[in-house]
Amino acid sequence: MSDIRKVPFFNYPDVYLSMRDEFVSVLDDVGGRGAFIMQSDLQEFESRLADYCGAKHAVGVANATDGIQIALMAGEVEPGDEVLFCSHTMVATASAIHFAGGKPIPVDTAGDHLIDLVSAEVSISRNTKAIMPTQLNGRTANMDAVSEFAERHGLKIFEDAAQSLGSKFKGKSAGTFGIGSAISFYPAKTLGSLGDAGAVLTNDSDVYERLLLLRDHGRGEDGDVHMWGFNTRMDNLQAAFLNKSLDKYDQVVARRRELASRYHERLNDIDALRLPPAPDEGDHFDIFQNYEIEADDRDGLKEYLGTQGVGSLIQWGGKAVHQFRHLGFDQELPKTEEIFRKLLMIPLNMSLRDEDVDYVALKIREYYDR
Ligand SMILES: *Cc1c(COP(=O)(O)O)cnc(C)c1O
Repeated sequence: MSDIRKVPFFNYPDVYLSMRDEFVSVLDDVGGRGAFIMQSDLQEFESRLADYCGAKHAVGVANATDGIQIALMAGEVEPGDEVLFCSHTMVATASAIHFAGGKPIPVDTAGDHLIDLVSAEVSISRNTKAIMPTQLNGRTANMDAVSEFAERHGLKIFEDAAQSLGSKFKGKSAGTFGIGSAISFYPAKTLGSLGDAGAVLTNDSDVYERLLLLRDHGRGEDGDVHMWGFNTRMDNLQAAFLNKSLDKYDQVVARRRELASRYHERLNDIDALRLPPAPDEGDHFDIFQNYEIEADDRDGLKEYLGTQGVGSLIQWGGKAVHQFRHLGFDQELPKTEEIFRKLLMIPLNMSLRDEDVDYVALKIREYYDR
C-alpha cells in the first residue's frame, strides 16, 4: 500500500497555516487599533484591488453574492427585468439576480464551458435587460463576442467574476467589461480570506456612489440616509488579511498556471477526457480557480481516485442552476445537462506539489488503461 499518496481536493487549514505568522501579526495589529469596521485597511485593499484589476473603483462587501446583487441594483436593474446568465454556474449568480428584483434566465453552456451566445439569442424577450456571464473556473469569456451581443440587443453587461481575479481577455481583467461585477474571497477562492468576503468592481462613478450607499444602510458621508440599503460591509480584519495575501497573488497565479500546464502535459492524450484549454491559448489569460475536466465514466473515475487517496469534486451537487427545480426553472439546456454528466474537478491548489499532480495524472491514466 506504500504507493498510496494522499492528495486531498482542498486543504482548508493551509489557507491559514501557509501564512500563519503574518496573519497573527495582522490580527494583533488590527485588534490593538480597534479597527473593525470600515477602516484604513479596507480602504487600502479597495484601492489596491482596483489597481490590480485596472478598474476605477472597488467596494469591499461581505461576500460576492451580495456584491453581485448590489452591483445589479446600483446598475439599475429594475423589477421584472430579465437577466441572462449561463446555467453552468453557482446558484448564487441567479439568487443575486432574484434578490435584486430581476428575473434570472438560465442559458446553455458553450464548448468552452462558458455562456453560449447562440442559446442566449433564443432566450431574448422584450424584457431582457442585461447579460451576466460567469467568468468560471478562472477563465474570462470572449468578451468581444459578449459585448457585440449586448450592443446588438441593447443589454447591460454585468459579470459574475467571483472565480476570476486576475483572469484576462485580450489583456483586460475579468470584472471590468461591464457596469459592475463581483469577486469572491471565500477561503477556497484563488485569493482566499479567513472567512467570507467579496468586492464589487465598477468603472462608473454613479454606480460607485450607489454601491457605497447600498452596502452601508444607505448612509452617506453627510450622515443622511439617501436610500434603502443593506449591511454588507467587508470586515476590516478580512481586508487586512487580504492586503497580506494580495502581496503574493502574482506568484499564486503563476503557480496555478504551472500546475495546470503540468496536468495538461500529462493528460492531454487520454481520449476519455476533455481538458480545459492550456494556460496560453489565444486571447485568454486563465488563472485556474479550478481544474474542471469532462470525463467519460466520470463516476467510476471519481470512485477509483478516492480509493487511491485522491480527492475530487462534482461541483454544486452535480446540478446546473436550471436543474434546481424548486427555484421554478423549467428550461431544458441540453449542452449543459450533457456536460454535467461528465464534469469533475481534480485537485488544483497551492498545497499541491508537482509530485501530487504527477500522481493524480498517473491514477487517472491507470483508470482508463484497465
Ligand atoms: C464563490 C462563487 C460565488 C459566491 O461567492 P461568495 O463570496 O461565497 O458569496 C458566486 N458565483 C460563483 C461563480 C462562485 O464561484
